[in-house]
Amino acid sequence: MARYVEDAPRQVLSAAKELLAKGLVEGTAGNISARQEDGTICITPSSLDYREMTLDDLVVISPTGEVVSGHRSPSSEKLLHLACMAAFDDIASVIHSHAVYASMFAVAHRPVPACIDEFSVYIGGDVRCTEYAMSGTDELGEQAVKALQGRGAALIANHGMVAVAPTPDKAMHITALVERTAQIVWGASQLGEVHHLPEKVDASFASVYEYLRANS
Ligand code: 13P
Ligand code: ZN
Repeated sequence: MARYVEDAPRQVLSAAKELLAKGLVEGTAGNISARQEDGTICITPSSLDYREMTLDDLVVISPTGEVVSGHRSPSSEKLLHLACMAAFDDIASVIHSHAVYASMFAVAHRPVPACIDEFSVYIGGDVRCTEYAMSGTDELGEQAVKALQGRGAALIANHGMVAVAPTPDKAMHITALVERTAQIVWGASQLGEVHHLPEKVDASFASVYEYLRANS
C-alpha cells in the first residue's frame, strides 16, 4: 500500500506557512500536497495568499485529479503532484517551491552537485534538472518523475524545485537543504573549483538515503 500522512490537512497547512516564512517562495507561488489514508490527496489551492490560508481552503483531489472536496480550485500544478504520487509509493508528500539559488541552477539547467555529506545523505546524490516543460502540464510531471529517480528533489528547468518525501516535514527539510546547498555551491564557485564528494562516498551516502526513505 502507498504511504500516507496522518492528519494531512494540518501538516499541509503548516508546511505552506513555513514555505513562505522561510522565503522559499514569494507571493502565492509554490504548492504542497500530502496523500491521505484513502488514497486521496490533500493539496493547497491555486493562487491564495499563504498568510490567509486556513484548513478550509485546502482541496482534496482523487489520484486522477477530480476534486473530491473543497470550495477552491486545486493548485495549477496538481498534475506534477499526482505524477510524483503515482510514480513513488514510498513518498506521501510533494513540495514545489521557487527558491532563489535553486532556481538559478534551474535557469542554467545545471544540477546541484553532491559536494556536502549532509546533502547526499538526505537527498540521495546530485539534484538533477529536468528538461524544459511548461507549468501545469502533464509533461512537467513526467519530466519531474524522470529527474527524481533515486532522489528526494529535482530542479524544474526555468522554474524552480520539487521535493518528495514520506512527510511534509521531511519534504520541507529537503527543500531547504537543496536551497542552502545551491547557495553554498554558488559561493564556492566564486572562490574556485567546486569539488564533488568522492564517488565511493557519494554511493555509500546514497544507500543511507535509500534506507532513511524506506524506514522513516
Ligand atoms: P498555484 O498557486 O496554482 O499552486 O501555482 C503556483 C506555482 O508555483 C505554479 O508553478
Ligand atoms: Zn511554480
